[in-house]
This record gives sequence, structure tokens and C-alpha cells, in this order.
Amino acid sequence: MLRASPILSHADVQVEPEFETVLDDLLAACRQSLRSVDEDMIRRAFRLGYWAHRNDRRASGERFITHPIAVAAIVARDIGFDDVSVVSALLHDTVEDTEFSLGLIRDEFGDTVANIVDGLTKIRGVSWSRELGQAENVRKLMLSMATDIRVILIKFADRLHNLRTIESLPKQKQLKIASETLDLFAPLAHRFGLNAIKAELEDISLKILHPEEYRGVVHSLQASKVERDGYVRRFIEPLQARLEGDGFGFEMAGRSKNIYSIWRKMKSQDKLIEEIYDLLAIRIVLKSAGKKGKEDCWRVYSIITDLYKPLPERFRDFISVPKSNGYQSLHTTVLGPEGRRVEVQIRTEEMHAIAERGVAAHWKYKEAVSDRDRGMEQFLDWVRDILENPSPEQATEFVKEFRLNLYDEEIYIFTPQGDLMTLPRHATPVDFAFQVHTEIGMHCIGAKVNGRMAPLSYKLQSGDQVEIITSKKQTPNPDWMKFVVTHKARSRIRHSINEKRRRSIELGRETLRKKLDRAGLKVDEQNLGRVANRLKFPNAQQMFYEIGTGLFDAKDFVKSVRSASRGRREEEGASAEQEGLRLRYEDFRDSAQIAARPALEIDGELHTDIVTRYAPCCNPIPGDDVFGYVSRSEGIKIHRVNCRNAPSLLVNQPDRIVSVEWSRQKDVHFLSCLRVMGEDRVGIVSDITTVISKNLKTNIRSITVDSEDGVFEGQIVCSVTDLSHLRRVIERLKRIDGIHGVYRFEE
Ligand code: MN
Repeated sequence: MLRASPILSHADVQVEPEFETVLDDLLAACRQSLRSVDEDMIRRAFRLGYWAHRNDRRASGERFITHPIAVAAIVARDIGFDDVSVVSALLHDTVEDTEFSLGLIRDEFGDTVANIVDGLTKIRGVSWSRELGQAENVRKLMLSMATDIRVILIKFADRLHNLRTIESLPKQKQLKIASETLDLFAPLAHRFGLNAIKAELEDISLKILHPEEYRGVVHSLQASKVERDGYVRRFIEPLQARLEGDGFGFEMAGRSKNIYSIWRKMKSQDKLIEEIYDLLAIRIVLKSAGKKGKEDCWRVYSIITDLYKPLPERFRDFISVPKSNGYQSLHTTVLGPEGRRVEVQIRTEEMHAIAERGVAAHWKYKEAVSDRDRGMEQFLDWVRDILENPSPEQATEFVKEFRLNLYDEEIYIFTPQGDLMTLPRHATPVDFAFQVHTEIGMHCIGAKVNGRMAPLSYKLQSGDQVEIITSKKQTPNPDWMKFVVTHKARSRIRHSINEKRRRSIELGRETLRKKLDRAGLKVDEQNLGRVANRLKFPNAQQMFYEIGTGLFDAKDFVKSVRSASRGRREEEGASAEQEGLRLRYEDFRDSAQIAARPALEIDGELHTDIVTRYAPCCNPIPGDDVFGYVSRSEGIKIHRVNCRNAPSLLVNQPDRIVSVEWSRQKDVHFLSCLRVMGEDRVGIVSDITTVISKNLKTNIRSITVDSEDGVFEGQIVCSVTDLSHLRRVIERLKRIDGIHGVYRFEE
């Protein structure tokens, strides 16, 4: 059937001359990086998109069509998947923003393009939705991946271009987009092996979220550039001569990590930029391909280690065992001139394409994909598995697990039969057991790692051979939740714990009911909860649970009801001291908050009349990067930008976010929590308290200490005036003999 749709005759659409040039450039990019190109289809999509968006403008005032064109160019150049993706990218915003219908696209370009555009329209709607939680976003994204992988690939390009042009958006929106990107899109892009895109997503997001720190890293990189370049040249010269002499075709260049990776490493290892040695890294990309290419990588490795001494513990062979996103390369760290460490990566052109463009490049180099694709298939299987299990108990838990499965790093473990399994870093024998089989996980009591007994919490290392010992009587232990890292293990253990807990609650409720009956007392549900609270239980359920497991005696409940009815409060005196401490802490906190009230500028104005509170989840102190969240009942809550709740607030409730600044104010104290770790030795606690209270004249609010097997762990709550004060405390603590780590922590 014919439709009256004059606009669909693309020949009728007049495109300004400058856009004709843009179209030519796009076609050239397609010809260069795609296997086959239907140029006519791309031309039609281009003209159609141009026409559909003819009246639209971007926030910057630019013509809207520049956006889909830029997205299509990223899809062609940096993802390089196929022409259908380029066409879909050109049309990705038409259904949402213009009078275009999906039916029109279906008629003109067929089902595949229409379905991809539909998928993109759907996930776009979701990511701006305020009603749905973050978890819902993740599920929509996963759903789109399960239907057509191109939806998510184009989404990456869309997000990248939006970030590149983010400056014209209001600050709050920028923060929201940046944190959503770091939270979800960058790790996901990594999972698909799109490393170039991932790196740029991360760098721009960092620049928005932590502009000062971003500039700091850029600055030090620039400052040391000449020196580093010179060193890399001296390192490369003899190597280049040898490789040329042996007739290798290759490219060799210095390489640097992206800004975000450097920043994160500095943060996580608490190091200065100079201390991160893989800043010095070079990459050799060999021209040879296939089996010969692989052999050449090893030959080049051997030449390098003739010239420079390798550090064997830093050697990684991702050629024989690729990462699950398909990455292949040999990594080695050698000692270069002056004994400096240099990381060298050796790979072929094909491996390099996959390293940069990931999953998409797989399709371009079709041969011998079986090994590489296995990891990706496992990942997509996992996605489907989650989708079939439609009600995750807790949204945050769900998102955490999803992120966990975007493994940053992986380890390779052998079964006793010699089969290889891929697990995320920090996986334990329990994770391994659940990976092998649910039943083995449910009943594991111990593990042999490389023939020796190891604790179930042992952190496995690549190459370990693991044998699990089981017992029929064993059931999952809640403590396992503290160390398992895989989704499968977590969900099965949680399920089993919930089941056990549910039974204990029922038993406890029943036991209490009987006790009350015997005592001739009647207590309704509401009063049950009230008495439970008086007995310091957060709720009645918890009390039933503790009765059910024998942790709490139902008799004490009966006693409490009786004494309350007599209007007496004697037995509450027992815990009065503890209670007093807690109250003092809260008083202090409240007074600090009230005093600090005028110290904030909200949206650029100094406010003294607005109630602000400091979020207990991240305990911000002056100097921290913060934002305000307009809460329903407690005024404006101040969170740190890197609070773990920040992404969900910024993403889901952007209209409740206000920007806040600290203004100068002295004599206000804030509580801050520190975790200290080190060797347990006599006098270490007194050294800590001396340093904090005497040397730094800082009040300690509480200190708790734990030690086990010679390892010491302490938690200190102290009051500080601002970030630089806190930093002084941290620096000074680090210098104490035997202290290995001092970290600020939340809650
Ligand atoms: Mn878009």
C-alpha cells in the first residue's frame, strides 16, 4: 500500500551546501571503517533526519541536526559496527522530538532500523524519568541490550556527544549527566570493550564533577611531558633498531592512561602522581596477522626482555586467555634505563582494533572469534538471567551487582579437572563454588587452594587451582555476604538467609505469643512495636527474629510490659550510660549543624534562614565538594558529591538539587570518621590519641579498636573545622609507626 508521504522522497529534500559536505565526510568515514556500506540508505536517512529536525535547535543554539550527524559519525568511526547503526543514529531522536512516527521509519527503512530507533527512544525516556529508580534504568538498558546490541552501542555514541557539548546545559543537569555516566555508561562501555569511548566518557565526567582535581592531573602531566617523552625515546631507540633489523612491521609509541584512571589510582592507592609508575608505558602494534601475528608477539617479547630486565610478577598473557570483553595483548613491565619501570604492551593490529573498539570489532574480524566471544556471551547470558528474575529485592543491591558484573579486572581459576573459569577480582572460594554449581555453593565448608586448606574468605589469585569441600549439613552463612563478590553467590546466599530469617521471625512471634498468653497479658500490634522500640529494637520484626534465634529472651519482654504498666523505669537504667553517650553524640551533631547554618551559600546567595542538615551518609565538612538536596521534611540536606547516594539523587531527582558553596566560618566543628589500619603493637592506641588530641589539639569523639592476628583496625570519630584540618589529621596519623592506611569513611 502506498502512503501519501511526500517528504519521504529524499530527492525532494533540499539540504544546505555545507551539510552536503558533512554528508560526504560521513560517507567517507563509513567507507573507511565499515565492511559494507549501503550509501543510498545513509543518504536517505541523512536527508530525512535533516528534514525532521529542520526547526529544532540545541541548548547551545546550534541546529539540532548537528547532534544526530555527530552521533552517526562516532558510530561510524569509533564503533565501526555497520551501516544500519549509522542510519539508526541519524534518526535516533526523530520519533521523540519531531512529528515523525515509528511507522514512517518502518516503511522507509524496515523493521531492524525501526526497532533500534524504538529501543533508543525508550531508554532515552527512562533515563530522564524521575519516578523510576536507578535500578529501573539499568533494567531498561539491559532489556535493550538483549533485543539488539546496536541500541546500546548507539546510546554510547549519543552520550559521548552530549557530554562533549554539555557546557550549554545548567550546572545541575551537568552534574546529573556526569555522575550517571561514571556510574553506568562508562563501566558498561568498558564491558563492551569500547575503551576509547569509555576513556573519553570518564575524562569529561571527571572534569565536571571534580574540576579542580581534573586540572591538577592535567597540569602535572603537562609539566612532566617533555621529560617523559625524552625518556620514552631513549627507551625505544635500541628496541626499534632491533625490531627493524629483524624485519618486523610495527608501530611503537608511548601511551598514557586517561586522566580519570590516573586520578582514580591516586585516590584508591593514596599516591602522588609521580608514584604511579605505569605513567611510563609503551605499546607495540605489529602488522602481522593471524597465527604468525601471535607468534610475533612472543618473539617481540623475547627481544624486549633481552634488552631490559623484566619483572616477572607483572607479566600478563591476555593472548592465550583473553579478557571476557575480548581484549588480547601481552603485558610486561621491565626495568628501563636508570632502573625506571616501564610497562610494555605487545599486540597485533587486529588485537589493537578490538582493544579500542571492542565488541563491534569482533564482527569485523570474523575468524577465530570463538574464544573471545565466550566471555561476552556469558555476560549477555547473565543479563538475560537477571531479566527473567523480575523483582530484585532491593534496588541498590541490584545496581551494585550489575556494576560488579562489568568487571574491571578478572582472574582465571582452574577446577581440579583443569577447566578454566573466569571470576571477578577479589572472588573467593565461595564465589567459585557457586559458579561451579549452586548445590556446591550451598553446602561448602572449606576449600583447598593449590592443594592446601584455605579459608572460605581467601581472595583467589589468577592461576589458583581450587577444590571445594562440601557437607550436607552446611547451609549458607550470613558472614559470607561480607566477602563474596559475584551476583550468583550473593543472590543465592541472600535468598537462603531471608528464608532462614523468615522462619525465625515466625517462630519468635509464636514463642512470644505463648509467653504473653501464659502471663495473661494482651498486647496489640501497635504496642508490640512500641515496647520493641523501648527495648532498643529497630522494629518488632527484629525482636521476633532475636527471640526466634534465642538471642533475646521473651521473658524480658513480659517484664518490660509489666514494669511499663507500673510506670517504672528501673531496668532502663542499666543501659543509661551507653544511651547517654549516644545522646551526647547527637546533641553535638545537632549543635554543630545549627551553628553551621549560615555557613552555606545556596545557588550563589547567602542564606541564614534555611534549615540545612548534613547528610549522615557522607558527613560533609567545609572544603568538600557538596550539593544540596531539598528534602521533603528536613530542609536542605548537604551531601558530598562523591557520596554513594549522590548518583541516585542527582539522576532521579534533579529538580530537588541545588548547588551550595561553603563560606568561611570559624569555630564550627564537624564530625568526621576515620578508619586506621596497621600492625597491632603495644602503645599504638595511645600514640594515636596523643597525635590527635595533644599534637593537633583535635577532639576525639570516640575511638574503637579491633585487633586480630597482629592486624590492627581502629575507627576514630573526631571533630574538625574543615577539610584541610582533616587532611592534617590524616597526614599526621600516617606517620605513626606501624600505621599502614588511614581512610575517611562514611557512617
Ligand atoms: Mn540524542
